[in-house]
Amino acid sequence: MDKVTPKSADVFKANCERAEPLLKKLKADGIGHMIDGKIVPAISGATFETRSPIDGSVLATVARGNAEDIDRAATAAALAFKAWRDMSAAMRRKLLHRVADAIEDNADDIAVLECIDTGQVYRFMAKAAIRAAENFRFFADRCAEARDGLNMPSEEHWNVSTRVPIGPVGVITPWNTPFMLSTWKIAPALAAGCTVVHKPAEWSPVTAAFLAKLVKEAGVPDGVLNTVQGFGEEAGKALTEHPAIKAIGFVGESATGAAIMAQGAPTLKRVHFELGGKNPVIVFDDADLDRALDAVVFMIYSLNGERCTSSSRLLIQQSIAERFIEKLTARVKALKVGHPLDPATEIGPLIHERHLAKVCSYFDVARQEGAVIAVGGKAHEGPGGGHYVEPTLVTGANAKMRVAQEEVFGPFLTVIPFRDERDAVEIANDVRYGLTGYVWTNDMGRALRVADALEAGMIWLNSENVRHLPTPFGGMKASGIGRDGGDYSFDFYMETKHVSLARGTHKIQRLGV
Ligand code: NAD
Repeated sequence: MDKVTPKSADVFKANCERAEPLLKKLKADGIGHMIDGKIVPAISGATFETRSPIDGSVLATVARGNAEDIDRAATAAALAFKAWRDMSAAMRRKLLHRVADAIEDNADDIAVLECIDTGQVYRFMAKAAIRAAENFRFFADRCAEARDGLNMPSEEHWNVSTRVPIGPVGVITPWNTPFMLSTWKIAPALAAGCTVVHKPAEWSPVTAAFLAKLVKEAGVPDGVLNTVQGFGEEAGKALTEHPAIKAIGFVGESATGAAIMAQGAPTLKRVHFELGGKNPVIVFDDADLDRALDAVVFMIYSLNGERCTSSSRLLIQQSIAERFIEKLTARVKALKVGHPLDPATEIGPLIHERHLAKVCSYFDVARQEGAVIAVGGKAHEGPGGGHYVEPTLVTGANAKMRVAQEEVFGPFLTVIPFRDERDAVEIANDVRYGLTGYVWTNDMGRALRVADALEAGMIWLNSENVRHLPTPFGGMKASGIGRDGGDYSFDFYMETKHVSLARGTHKIQRLGV
């Protein structure tokens, strides 16, 4: 029998119905920290309100953590560390798979809560929880091999390396796709045998609290994952300064990364940074232009453009620029801005009024610089009256303009024409960031040359961003330090130890004889 696809109006209605009791409960219970397996208020009693970007309504009162709460959480993580480290890999694997099961069982609730808390749209968030579960499964299956090392024999010694978990770690995450993104960090840390204190973004506390609850219910011992809600300058800063915390996995803005590096210096924190981007998509005239167009539109206008890997600069070869921009303009005009729970919606409200103001400020920047706003360029009246913005296309720009240099982090695409391969590479690299690059050409030699020349941590050739978990994820320049994914994650969350066993044949220098 053919599967009947539910109508978008029916899915929208079902999503709203699903959200209603969840929101009631959220409002009644509020959001506390999860410390040592207990949901607790801030020690100071302080709270803040989290509001929905759809209509500004208060979703919940949230515990506002400070250094005292962080100390309590870091102490819990330190006390839980030895038992978690020494637990058999098979048992750790089993527990992390149980977390993945719990995420899958609650995927629909997680999706609607994420939409309402962040403004991300259902068509993308429906799969976010499933991807989060995959992150847990992927690293769960690698628990045993996390400790693997190398065998490097020399003439007189048997040399091996092994890895041990570094200790309790801090994970600090941003508000864009917060549930999925936090599991990228938390799952490998737990699989490596580290305990974790997680400080989610203050603009998106809801699903982080949900994750902490699921991890506890899955049977992960108390103190292994602790979540402290609160602001960056308070709870976040305290986490980066706490002596029991051995490393900080951070995702967020480049300026915050720099602050964290300074804050963590006195306690010699190991840091891993995934930061901002101003990523180029380069389209050459010999490319499959239909596929390129689909990818260009998807990589900047999906996830509300609030995406570190978004291709926010389109570098288009002059010979095809006019025709390509014409088609692009039509597509951007047709994008559907609307309620995030409606599966037909392509762009939802931006996370916060301050972020809306930041994105809108770039409309004036574009005009003042003499670029052309071909589509959009203003806020949008959307359902609920929230932080909606029109998807925006800026043409007539050059590589030096602020709209070509600065991360806007919204549905805002800047188009820059180029002459030839050399010109394209020069423009692509002429920014402080270096996270991703996308290249469209059917000349494979050129694709490889450009991939080689681009200053970016991740390059996709004839493709949009498709994540494969074993591959390294991370950026160069102001886009980050270190790599995530597969074994790269374990390298960060673990110490590599060298063990050398003498064969008993080498000469030992005799002093004081
Ligand atoms: P942000 O840097 O403002 O905040 C991120 C987190 O850091 C939040 O939890 C915040 O509370 C905390 N924080 C802020 N100041 C702090 C301090 N002094 N000490 C410790 N913690 C502090 O970033 P954001 O606005 O939430 O997120 C958007 C940014 O994240 C964008 O620049 C985006 O490109 C970047 N990002 C990067 C990646 C990547 O993989 N490279 C992925 C997603 C987002």
